[in-house]
Amino acid sequence: MRGDFKPRRNPQRPPWALAEQAFVDTCTRCAACVPVCPTRIVVIVRGYPEVDFKRGECTFCGACATACRDGALLRAEDQAPPWLIKAQVADTCLARRGVECRVCGDPCPVAAIRFSPRLGGPPLPEVDAATCTGCGACVAPCPVNAISIT
Ligand code: SF4
Ligand code: SF4
Ligand code: SF4
Repeated sequence: MRGDFKPRRNPQRPPWALAEQAFVDTCTRCAACVPVCPTRIVVIVRGYPEVDFKRGECTFCGACATACRDGALLRAEDQAPPWLIKAQVADTCLARRGVECRVCGDPCPVAAIRFSPRLGGPPLPEVDAATCTGCGACVAPCPVNAISIT
């Protein structure tokens, strides 16, 4: 591992990243993956790239992996999902606090967030983990930052 780098807790690397230790050992910090991202979600934090879903979503276009010449982002040829992260809704969600809100439902490209009617309050967002791709499209639109991708 490079001498001055101490990993933070669970940094979210770009898609198709090697496992964390291998990633920081392999990434040369060239930042080639940053400008090619069409949604501008790849940012440099402490020298290494991370994705910031507050800036937008990952479209899985693969541009970051193509730009990586060092093998730190290795796109699988079998089209396997690049990561296992999923959307999680925190208790700060407005609907969970009794306020009608369905903002996060529309931006989801795979309709993984469903709102089921319930007695005594507004429908609650429910993420179908089997459908969610972890793209992050639901993060920025949430008015109270209740969604994380982990
Ligand atoms: S796959 Fe495309 S959209 Fe996703 S982080 Fe890489 S460049 Fe950005
Ligand atoms: S957008 Fe945020 S506050 Fe609104 S339902 Fe979704 S998670 Fe809850
Ligand atoms: S992370 Fe993407 S796929 Fe998953 S619920 Fe949010 S918008 Fe839908």
